[in-house]
Amino acid sequence: MPAALAWRLVSNDSAGVRAGIVVTGTELLSGLITDRNGPWLAQRLGGLGIEVAHLLCVGDRPADLAAALRFLADQGVDLIATSGGLGPTADDLTAEVVAAFAGVPLELDESMAQQIAVILARFRHLSRFDSEGLRAANRKQAMVPRGATPLDPIGTAPGLVVPVKDGPTVVVLPGPPRELQQMWPAALATEPVRDVLSRTLPFEFAQLRLFGLPESQIAVTLRDVGQALDLTPLEITTCLRRGELVIDIRHRPGAGATRDALIEAIRARHAQYLFSTDGTSVDDQVAGLLRGHRIGLAESCTGGLLAARLTEVPGSSDYVAGGVVAYSNAAKTLLLGVPADLIELRGAVSPEVARAMADGARARFAADVGVGITGVAGPGGGTKAKPVGYVCLCVTSSDGSTLASDPVLPGDRAQIRDRAVTTTMHLLRRLLTSPA
Ligand code: ATP
Repeated sequence: MPAALAWRLVSNDSAGVRAGIVVTGTELLSGLITDRNGPWLAQRLGGLGIEVAHLLCVGDRPADLAAALRFLADQGVDLIATSGGLGPTADDLTAEVVAAFAGVPLELDESMAQQIAVILARFRHLSRFDSEGLRAANRKQAMVPRGATPLDPIGTAPGLVVPVKDGPTVVVLPGPPRELQQMWPAALATEPVRDVLSRTLPFEFAQLRLFGLPESQIAVTLRDVGQALDLTPLEITTCLRRGELVIDIRHRPGAGATRDALIEAIRARHAQYLFSTDGTSVDDQVAGLLRGHRIGLAESCTGGLLAARLTEVPGSSDYVAGGVVAYSNAAKTLLLGVPADLIELRGAVSPEVARAMADGARARFAADVGVGITGVAGPGGGTKAKPVGYVCLCVTSSDGSTLASDPVLPGDRAQIRDRAVTTTMHLLRRLLTSPA
């Protein structure tokens, strides 16, 4: 699920360099494909100290692209990055629209035309197509707005950096994400973009992650801290991601002391929930903590999602011994040694069965850490006593430590299963960090 933006303290940073992004493509607007260029560019620009003020998406209609460019210019942005619409077909009109926006004509760039011809010649299979058509397409892609810097093609389309008199510099990039990303360094190296970059101050970033604390509480904390400490130099964004509360802090140089004071205030109030101040995820931390151990997994309602998440980390074969997806009662008994009468007595979804599954996994995989997960992922199968979302999680270790939790998790089937895994990761983290 996408993160929900929960709370935001808007910075008073109006002095920085600002940018707008325009991604083009009717298939993006119709929802056929998901935009991968806008977020990528936003991250790169942010990393360079540029404030991204707007991210717009328009279809392949020249009037809409022109309107987006005018809007961004009216907002006073210093830089615009566009993606898409550079291809050879008639609906690829970005260069033309940007030239009109800059008030300059398009001119044939002979050396670019030759470069594109060489690229096209590599596609031998094209030779059986209408060569006149190919020449026209080649020529179209080599048309460059007067005064612009062409960027060497990664595919067949060159990019452009177009300075605009009394307006924002426009960086025109191709649509395919791989091409756009590979062309980005060349765009940054051009004179007009370097000029914009020379006016920026880099951002500094910090990220805090908390688990188990409601968003409403962090909003209260930020409000309280803001009474005593002037937080306006900081841009603070809080959001829930996969059941964890993530606080992103961004600021210009010089506000490090305010940032540190805020982090300390959050630590002082919420130490038991705060698990990361250096951007590391619980997955990274558990991976580090499991080194030197051997873990066995028994999963019912999560169907192997914990095994998948643990083994996403390269090198996990050092500590993941194996896992069992024991969905049926018979499998729990047969594969993990969970007593049938325990299941009968307590029910397949019960703290006692989760514990027996964890112990069974530890024994069967000759591991020193075991995990048991059983629950009601829904949408059916819930009862008053054990509603949909009720999950029983248990982690045990061979030194006798046990941590268990049986929350009722919110959300649909996919979210319940995902949150069950995240909650188990946090149990593991606690088990492996608590003193023996
Ligand atoms: P081409 O020369 O391939 O036509 P182009 O610059 O004209 O390049 P588009 O035609 O806009 O680019 O897009 C080509 C393909 O690139 C799209 O069909 C899509 O698969 C992918 N693409 C374009 N924009 C995006 C985007 N914002 N996010 C993800 N994929 C994209």
